Amino acid sequence: MTIQKRIAIYGKGGIGKSSTASNVAAACADEGYKVMIIGCDPKSDSSITLLGGKRIPTILDLLRDGVDVKEEDVIHEGYKGVKCVEVGGPEPGIGCAGRGIIVAIQTLKKISKSLNEMDLIIYDVPGDIVCGGFVAPIRKGLVKEAYVLTSGEYMPLYAANNICRGLAKINTPLSGIICNSRSVSREEEIVTKFASEIGSELMAFIPKEQIVQDCERDGFSVMEKAPDSNVAKVYRKLAQAIMERDSSVMPEALDDERLRELTK
Ligand code: SF4
Repeated sequence: MTIQKRIAIYGKGGIGKSSTASNVAAACADEGYKVMIIGCDPKSDSSITLLGGKRIPTILDLLRDGVDVKEEDVIHEGYKGVKCVEVGGPEPGIGCAGRGIIVAIQTLKKISKSLNEMDLIIYDVPGDIVCGGFVAPIRKGLVKEAYVLTSGEYMPLYAANNICRGLAKINTPLSGIICNSRSVSREEEIVTKFASEIGSELMAFIPKEQIVQDCERDGFSVMEKAPDSNVAKVYRKLAQAIMERDSSVMPEALDDERLRELTK
């Protein structure tokens, strides 16, 4: 029996969670795995590069419009059969993003059996603020493994450190740190050190390469549009590492002074 992986990728907004999630999804699909990506970011752009640039309706928008939601309305097949779902965001000033994610997933479970049939489910979760709302998918048992994406700059590391603090609070182990490079000096060294000091390890160093942006602009993943590129190899290796990962640690967040020292 294959083990079903249910992972979440957390990290500061704008750090590249969606492109990492979609490229990992595509790389796993290339290997023949059944993959679903559930975008929980209000921007709903987790799946756009798996669907040739097409936007799909979000579950929360449909529910708000009073639609009697069916499986085919919200699960859209993209690159190599990756099932794409977008949760959408709350109404500004009213709803709670975390609560929205739970409502959306409950709806999904009701209308589709797909969640049980996947080898890998990736939740692409916003994570600037690690309030109770954003860790809801973990609390509800939807997610089994948490990964944190960061670059070597102070702010993304600050967010990553905070996420680790939040994970430890709710007794959820961390499976690894991923660095999405912004080409700052000593970046790999800084993030490797950060990962080891919180008790974890660096799973991948994704170089900053224009090809990622170019593919995204055209509405494709790197795996689809530039499968022979250097960065595609990195995503492939990361995807394999995630599928094989069977260890995790309770992260020990650093104090702010140490974090600042690390990024100097
Ligand atoms: S509780 Fe958290 S998820 Fe909910 S609205 Fe506030 S910040 Fe957002």
